[in-house]
Amino acid sequence: MPELPEVQTVVNHIRPMIIGKRLTTIRPIWEKTLHNFNVEDIDRIKPNNQIIDVYRRAKFIIIKLMDHIIAIHLRMTGKLYVSEKKIDPKYATAVLEFEDKGSLIFEDVRKFGRIYLYDDMKIIDSRHGPEPLDKNFTVELFKNMIKRRNRNIKALLLDQSFLSGLGNIYVDESLWKSGIHPNSNSSSIPQKKVSMLHRNIQSILNDAIVKKGTTIIDFSVNGRSGEYANDLNVYGRNERSCFKCDLKVIKLKVAGRGTYVCTKCQKRYK
Ligand SMILES: [Zn+2]
Repeated sequence: MPELPEVQTVVNHIRPMIIGKRLTTIRPIWEKTLHNFNVEDIDRIKPNNQIIDVYRRAKFIIIKLMDHIIAIHLRMTGKLYVSEKKIDPKYATAVLEFEDKGSLIFEDVRKFGRIYLYDDMKIIDSRHGPEPLDKNFTVELFKNMIKRRNRNIKALLLDQSFLSGLGNIYVDESLWKSGIHPNSNSSSIPQKKVSMLHRNIQSILNDAIVKKGTTIIDFSVNGRSGEYANDLNVYGRNERSCFKCDLKVIKLKVAGRGTYVCTKCQKRYK
């Protein structure tokens, strides 16, 4: 599933191509894709249909119009890319059409991806924690957030209402780099380790954005993506030697997710 770096990669790619364009309609191919609106609602906002910004919030791609926002969640297999072709691709579930030529194709093999229409960001903001790369996400804030919770650290980091944007891959990488076992209790982790975790979450996400994510997001013919896969330290490395020690990385189930851990380098704080 795309996480913060993958979603940011999509935003960085489509932003210059669609900003300033006028959205004429959102045509559903798989009806459920339009989650809380229909085509008539788009007709109604047409006088103010110019795209004035495109950005990421949590794992959502936000397309900002003058008086509304369109939020797109890729879920498992969603892909979003600009196309000038007239024929809908095989797995397209919705097409965002522009006044001039071209459209934004939402392609989704497993059809879990959704598009939302809201007046503003209130609903999304109310359901999501801080952005880990925001300057307001300070180490002091993170220490307070962790201290107030008494919960499995991996489950907590995956919880979008606690912190936005992280998923299975980047949580495992951040915990390994910080020497924290994913089954640790959040409130028992020493302050020093929490600071380290804060720093590592930010550096790993920033590095992954530069490498255009870990998973291949095949959104354009020329766009290379997924190069962070070569930089993974623990995720997907079960039965292979840890990069810090010689012990083999094992795979556990934590918070219902396949989790990679080195039991020698990652201490469990109970
Ligand atoms: Zn190790």
